[in-house]
Order: sequence, then structure tokens, then C-alpha cells
Amino acid sequence: MTQKQNKNLFKGIRDTISVAWAIDKKFFLITALLMLLGGLLPVFTGYASKLFLDSIISTAAGGITIVTSALLGILVFRYALYIIVEFRNVYLYEYVQRSSRLKAQAWLNLTASQKISGLDLQHFENPETQDLISKIWRDALGRIIPAINNIFFAGTYATTLIGSILALLSFSSWLPFVAIAITIPRLIILRDRADFSWSIFDRTAPESRKLGYYTDLTQDKDAVIETRIFGTQGYFLNQIKVMQEKILGETLKPIQKYLGKIWIPTIMENVFIFFIIYLKLPAVLSGAISIGTITFVIQMLNEVIDNSSNVHSQLSNIYEDQLYIANYFTFMNLQPLVKDKEPGHRFEEIKPPKIGFQNVSFEYPNGPAVLKKVSFSIQPGEHLAIVGPNGAGKTTLVKVLLRLYDVSKGSILINDVDLRDIPRTHWYEFVGTLFQSFQKYALTVRENITMSSKEKDNEEKMKKAAQLSGAAEFIEKFSKKYEQQLGRQFDGEELSVGQWQKLALARAFYEEAPVLILDEPTSAIDAEAEAEIFENLNNAYKHKTLIFISHRFSTVRNADKIIVLKDGEIVESGTHQSLIDNKGIYARMFQKQAKGYID
Ligand code: ADP
Repeated sequence: MTQKQNKNLFKGIRDTISVAWAIDKKFFLITALLMLLGGLLPVFTGYASKLFLDSIISTAAGGITIVTSALLGILVFRYALYIIVEFRNVYLYEYVQRSSRLKAQAWLNLTASQKISGLDLQHFENPETQDLISKIWRDALGRIIPAINNIFFAGTYATTLIGSILALLSFSSWLPFVAIAITIPRLIILRDRADFSWSIFDRTAPESRKLGYYTDLTQDKDAVIETRIFGTQGYFLNQIKVMQEKILGETLKPIQKYLGKIWIPTIMENVFIFFIIYLKLPAVLSGAISIGTITFVIQMLNEVIDNSSNVHSQLSNIYEDQLYIANYFTFMNLQPLVKDKEPGHRFEEIKPPKIGFQNVSFEYPNGPAVLKKVSFSIQPGEHLAIVGPNGAGKTTLVKVLLRLYDVSKGSILINDVDLRDIPRTHWYEFVGTLFQSFQKYALTVRENITMSSKEKDNEEKMKKAAQLSGAAEFIEKFSKKYEQQLGRQFDGEELSVGQWQKLALARAFYEEAPVLILDEPTSAIDAEAEAEIFENLNNAYKHKTLIFISHRFSTVRNADKIIVLKDGEIVESGTHQSLIDNKGIYARMFQKQAKGYID
């Protein structure tokens, strides 16, 4: 191995042991002790067998035909050791390993889920991080427990190896070292295997991700309509086959190469043992070496060869494990991209603040500028509408206000405090949101509405939120009303997209945040219901701040202030009337839509 590989291996072992230690200290210590004991037992039982054989032969040679107490004592010693071996195996494999495996898996899944839930949106939008996440769920997490076991097994084999070397040293000063040397070819081949399988794994990651994507598409309820109508399922099935063949091809190549080589060390090792026995046979026949001793030496020789190659192959397994689970450590060390200042600025009261954008520019990582020197302000309780063509940067503007991203230049001020100085959890106490990509939770109606708030059981508030959003109408028709389970996954009622959107709106209303941010909140709702929702909204949010993105001028026109975004810049702003008088882009967009309705 290269120096760097050795360094990675030892760092990996150290990190893996620290995970095992963190999962359960008691099981770690018990397993370590039992593994060490397991390592010493083959030497002890081998020695007990030697004593037993020599004792039988010398007793028989003395013409004694009854079982002497010395012989009986040795026999008892030998079988007592076997009982210990059996107990240790049963306790270790049936109890310690099984129970710790369950606990470890639960711990790993939970810590990884916790980590994922703390990641920034930007992490999810980065293809490398996406690859990393899919790799750790696919491979790294399931591999940590075997990796811990492999380290323990390496410890067991190393203990047996050292024990049998010491036993052999008392017989010959060179034999154990030649035995170790003979196993070196196996180490080289095993190391190559680890490198191979790693490179397949790394090389096929994009294909695996695509495979997962295509498979999901064939199963996704929402995609079914399109795949059936457009007849695209045949295309996706073919893509699945192409990806599978590519992955399989990449995987088989190195395995075949490995199989072509592995017979070499196996033959070398066995020829070596045969040769040593042949060399010592005259000494045994002359009586210079006892039968028990030569049996013990052969057994220890086998142990040295087996265990030095076992240690090699364990190290190779550990090395391979590390290549995969290094991703887990990289993942667990991902740093937040949007950083909170500690302790940061906290406001005394949670009430509608003054919001100011000052020359805000923003670009997505490696992307062109999406917001360019955007400046505007919103007074407490003001209703602001953001309009503009697709891709103008409207959603992005909202995202930076929610600090899902930090602005690239300029600043966003909340009551004259820079947003970057306010801890996000504190800022989120001020805002409620509804995005275009809102969630449809397969939970009860009650949970869907109340989950966003700390206060989960305010019946009156929940019903009021449902009234405001227009959801109450269909909820009241359910036999279980607010306790109705939703979503097909759990045998619940399925809603139409518009009904889901009303429910998501109710969730946003229930929170009663001082600032409500809505990104096309009524895109799937009919015009009449939309007008009613906005009327409700304008009343309920009379003294609160409302920021919404909409393409429907019937709702936009009622806002206190409207900003028109185009190519990331504010091209116009003002009230509906002033913008119409201005006869600019807003007036043209408004007239086009109005004409569509009138014609
Ligand atoms: P709008 O809401 O006005 O339709 P968006 O704010 O969604 O516009 O998008 C503005 C521009 O930013 C578009 O060109 C879009 O392609 C780009 N964009 C949006 N989201 C991302 C992202 N996560 N990564 C890179 N570019 C993005």
C-alpha cells in the first residue's frame, strides 16, 4: 500500500472505532474482550491437544493400561477449553452481535437523518452532494456495522497470529517469518480487489442515480398519467435496462480479473506446509520431536499462514470498507453553507417588521446573475405583490428573503438589522410560507393544518384557518372531518390538487406569522375561490405583512405595492393605478390578461 493509502486506512479505522464507541460503549468493550479471548483460544486448545497426545503416547509406552490422573487432568483441561470456546461463540454471535447490530443500525439511520434534515437547500441542489447522499444511503450506512466487525475480526486474527508466532518461536527461530512471507502475494491480490471494486462503485455512481430516477419514474403516481398518454414507459424501461447492463458490465470485469489470479497464493501456501512437514519427518521418526509437538507445530503453522492471510484480507476488507464509508464521514462533516451568527440578533417582539432590500444581487453557484441590484422596502403590515415573466427571479427573491441562500452582494435588512445577523430559527418565527412545490402530507387533516405551529391543539384557530383558505368546505363533508386520514399511502382520502393547495394555505394561515410569503398560492384554485381566499386573506392580514407572487392581476391589483421583476431587475414598482397610468410593462401585461377575459 502507498503511504497515503496506509494513512487513509488508519484514519478510517480510528473514525470507525469512534463511531462504534459512540453507538454503545458497553457492547464495544464486551465485544473487544470476547474477540481477544477468541484470538488466544486456538493456541491454548492446540497446546492442550499436544499435551493430551504426548501424555497418551508416553503412558501407553510405559505399559500402563488404566487412565492415570495426569491423563484425565489434561483431558478435562482440553474439553473445558472447548466449552469456553463454545460459550464465547454463542454469547458473542447470538446475543452481543445481534442486539448491538439492531441498536447500531437505528443509531446510524437516526444520526444520518438528523444530519440530512439540517442541510441547506443549496446542499440538495448540488449534484455532488446529491451523489454523496445517495451513496451513503445505498452503501455507506449498511457497511459501517460490517466494518466495525471487520476491525474486531482483524484484532482476533492478529491475536491468534501473534500467539502462534510466539508458540512457533519456541520451536524454530525462522519458521514463523518464512510462513508470513509466503502469504504476501495474497495481500497484493486482495488489495487490488479493493481498489477495483471501489473504482466500479465510484465510476457507476451517476448511472446508479439515473437508474434510481428512471425506476422512480415508472412507479411515481404523478408520472403515470404522462407515461401512459405519451407512451414513454417503453423509453424509461429501456433506459433502466441500459443502465443495469452498464453497471453489471463494470462490476463483472474486475471480478473476472481477480478470479484469474487468486489460485496462485493458495497453491504457494499449501506447497510450503507440505515441504516443512516433509523436512521434519526424520526427526519425528527418530523420536527427537514428539508426536504431540509436531502436531502442535503443524497446527500453529497453519494458524500463522491462515491468520496472517486473514489479517491481510481483513485489512483489505477494512480498506475496502473505508473507501465506501469515507463518504459517511465526509457527509457527517458537511458544513452549513448558510451560517448563523452566534448568538446573533434577537428582536424583543414577534410582530410585522420593516423589510428592506438594498442593492441585492444573487447568483446560484456557478450560475449567471439571477437578481441584479434589487432595492425596495416593505413597511410593517404592507401587502406586496411580485409580478413578472417566468424566470424573472421572483421565487429566488423570496428564497433569499427566507435565507435559504445568502445574497451575493448587497443586504436584506429586517428592522435595519442585516438578515445574516439574525439566527434563522428566530427569523422563521416571523414568517409563514407557501411555495409552489408545497407538500401533500399523507397525515390527517388536523395534522396537515396544525403541524407548522408550536401550538398544535387550538381547535378554533384550526377551523378558522380552514375557513379562510376555503378548505373547510370539503373537510366538513368527510365523515371524520378533521380526523380524516389523507393520501392513498395509508388508505386515506385523495384530494384534488386545488384541495391540497387550500389545505396547504390553511397550514400557512394557522401559523399566524406576522409575515406571510406566498409563491403562487392559488395556481391550482379556480378564479372564484381564489378571489374569496384573497378577500379573506386581505381581512385576516390587514395588520400583517403579506408578500405574494401571482400571475393573476385580479388579486395583484389589490396589493398596497407591486414590484415588476424582469431578468432579475425591478423594472417598475408602485400601486396598480400608478402602474397602469405609467403605461409600461405592467399595464401591457394587465391589458393582455383583461383582454383574454373580455374576448
Ligand atoms: P421565477 O420565479 O420568476 O419564475 P426563478 O426565481 O424561479 O424565477 O428563477 C430565476 C432564474 O434562476 C431562472 O433562470 C432559473 O433557471 C434560475 N434558477 C432557479 N432556481 C435555480 C437553482 N436552484 N439553481 C440554479 N439556477 C436556478
